[in-house]
Amino acid sequence: MLTINDLIQDEDTRRKYHDIKNMVGSGGMRSSIYDVNNVCNLRCKGCFYFSSDQHKLDDQKDLDELQAFIEREKARGVNYAILIGGEPSLSMDRLDVWYANVKCSSATNGVKKIPRDRYPDMRVGISLWGDEEDEIRLRGKNTFLISRENYRNDPNVYYLYTITAQTINQMEAVTKKIEDAGLRVHYQLFSNDQGVDGLDWTEDLYKEARDNMDAMIEKYPHVVISSKYYHQVLTTQMMLDRRFGWMECPSVSDAVDDRNPRPKRLAGFNSYGSDYTTIHRCCTSVTRDCATCHDGAATMSWIMVNKREHMTSPADFANWVDVTHMFAKLYEYIPW
Ligand code: SF4
Ligand code: SF4
Repeated sequence: MLTINDLIQDEDTRRKYHDIKNMVGSGGMRSSIYDVNNVCNLRCKGCFYFSSDQHKLDDQKDLDELQAFIEREKARGVNYAILIGGEPSLSMDRLDVWYANVKCSSATNGVKKIPRDRYPDMRVGISLWGDEEDEIRLRGKNTFLISRENYRNDPNVYYLYTITAQTINQMEAVTKKIEDAGLRVHYQLFSNDQGVDGLDWTEDLYKEARDNMDAMIEKYPHVVISSKYYHQVLTTQMMLDRRFGWMECPSVSDAVDDRNPRPKRLAGFNSYGSDYTTIHRCCTSVTRDCATCHDGAATMSWIMVNKREHMTSPADFANWVDVTHMFAKLYEYIPW
């Protein structure tokens, strides 16, 4: 068994390992995902939230009940709440309760601004599906332009940019606009849940996407929060000699995880519907096919929970450190 000293052979890995070593293990991050409400001001094509009927739950509107639920989650060990849709910006009275009671970040489509003075420390991740024409085509309005203006120069905001098989070549133009707006970006790949024509991935397209994402790290290092190893795993769905999928996924809700054997997974992770009684299968939707899932958070978590498997060579360990460092930046454990 190699020691950490054997495994760390370069200064970049040493620095990053120093940054992250308190984040993992006991006392580190324990997250879960929570739908804040069941409404949205957009109807994006291919949105799994609506197509899988997650919006049909009776959402929790009672703020005292919400606070009691948060206390139960904290007693369960959760110390980081990832708030998602519907659309959190439409229910700021609920965001107030979350923000006052637990460390949290919020997703948004960026159309309605989540005010910084109301939530000075809240990390905000804006979903982005493409450049301006794509946003109009897929989401019904130019949300990219609106969100850039809403959040210009906000140091605690990033775009979660989902690359599709048809938008690989726009990556630099979009990244440049994000740089010009003084914001940051993290990439993931589109999962073609609903079999939309022209959006399936091929080996050539995966390679092109990976090469472009890698190039963006080189060219925009202060804008792009990512990792080449993450890109490799995302575009191959392979980590070491293992294939991503249901029997490997770390982001299945603990309460419904009946896999046998259970793989390494995020401790105590659950994904709650907006009634806070329903627990979704995983961080995406039960309608998604695990064989073609490209969820970025599940992919990076898969790498992170398999630390030991990367402790066989300095190169593998450096890859693990790089991805964990990226995760720590995205979830505020270390500065960008
Ligand atoms: S913004 Fe999000 S929740 Fe709303 S329709 Fe689009 S993908 Fe769905
Ligand atoms: S759809 Fe993706 S995130 Fe959900 S269980 Fe399957 S692999 Fe995991």
